Parts: sequence; C-alpha cells; structure tokens
Amino acid sequence: MLTNMINLPNFNILDMKESEYDYRFLVETTALSPSHYSKCGTVANLYKHGKKQQLFFDLPMHAKRVGIYVNRQRYKCRECNETFFENLPDMDVNRSVTNRLIYWIKEASLEKMFTSVAEEIGVDEKTVRNIFNDYVDELEAQTDFRTPKWLSIDEVHLLKNYRCVITDVENKSVIDILRKRNKDTVISYLSKLQDIEKLNL
Ligand SMILES: [Zn+2]
Repeated sequence: MLTNMINLPNFNILDMKESEYDYRFLVETTALSPSHYSKCGTVANLYKHGKKQQLFFDLPMHAKRVGIYVNRQRYKCRECNETFFENLPDMDVNRSVTNRLIYWIKEASLEKMFTSVAEEIGVDEKTVRNIFNDYVDELEAQTDFRTPKWLSIDEVHLLKNYRCVITDVENKSVIDILRKRNKDTVISYLSKLQDIEKLNL
C-alpha cells in the first residue's frame, strides 16, 4: 500500500485525483468490525447493509484544497433492525469536515473573512460561520478558566461585524471572543474575571 498521503491511519486510500486547485481522495476505513452500542448492544449480530460515499473536507495540502470521499459502510443489526453507519473518529460528521480542519477553521476565522476561509478549503461559507459560532459558544461555556497574567484584547472585523478577541498572551491561546466591541461589553467582561488585580493590561 502507498504511504498514507493524507496522514490519517484509519483510512486506506483507494484512488486520488489531482487538478489545478484540488485533491480528491477516495478512501475506506481500515477498521475490520464496527462497534454497535446503541439499543440492544449486540456486536456479533450485524451484517453489512450497503455503502454510501460521503465527502469530507480536510486541511489544504500543497496549496490545494483536499476533499476526501469515504466509502462509508452501513450495517444492520439482526436483533433490533437498526441500521447505522460505521464510526469515523477522524471526522466531524455533522459538518462534513475532518476534526483537524475544525481546529484550522477556528484559527483562520479569527484573521480572515469567512468567505475567504471557505474558498481556501472548499467548504461553503455557512459551514465556516457555524464552526466559528460553535467555537464562540464553547469559549463562553468555559466558566472556570484562570485569569491569565497578560491579556490582550484585539479587535477583529468579521462579516461586517467587529468582535473582540481576548487572548492569553503568555500561553498564546484564545480564551474568549466577545460578540460586540463596545466599551460596556469589554468592561462587563473584565469585571467577571477572577483575580482581576493580577491582570496587566
Ligand atoms: Zn441492535
């Protein structure tokens, strides 16, 4: 077998097409048997029940967009008659992208317009916006974060909206994104921080 060019060991590459701006891979999983924990919980009583080709986008490679078609196996359970697809642990199946692309999109969305991020990787703008909004929600849900020693507050312009990106300077990580950039929003945010006296602005 060829070296796994997409660097995802859970897949075998069956085919690859290359054009000026895109790579398209056709893959199948290397997993031999699925795990089926839903409903009746049996593993042994499954049989294969067709395949479906699903497209997932991945990190750009050699300045080209990467799409991965997965020949995804469907199974049916003899006990409960449930049909289900095999697991794809490397993929976000709701957003049709690889997990590692999710991280990439979060970072890229802080600096670029959603449309240009989308263009660069081949997904639609809505997918980028949804992933970014998930990211904002995740950050907002983190209630118990430690107030960093050095905080940077940057203004970013995204889709005609200004937002404030709060960064932990020492650890180089984004800790929050404020949907508005006005003074009241920033003051209200800062007042909620613990150990605010430790902060160097
Ligand atoms: Zn079952």
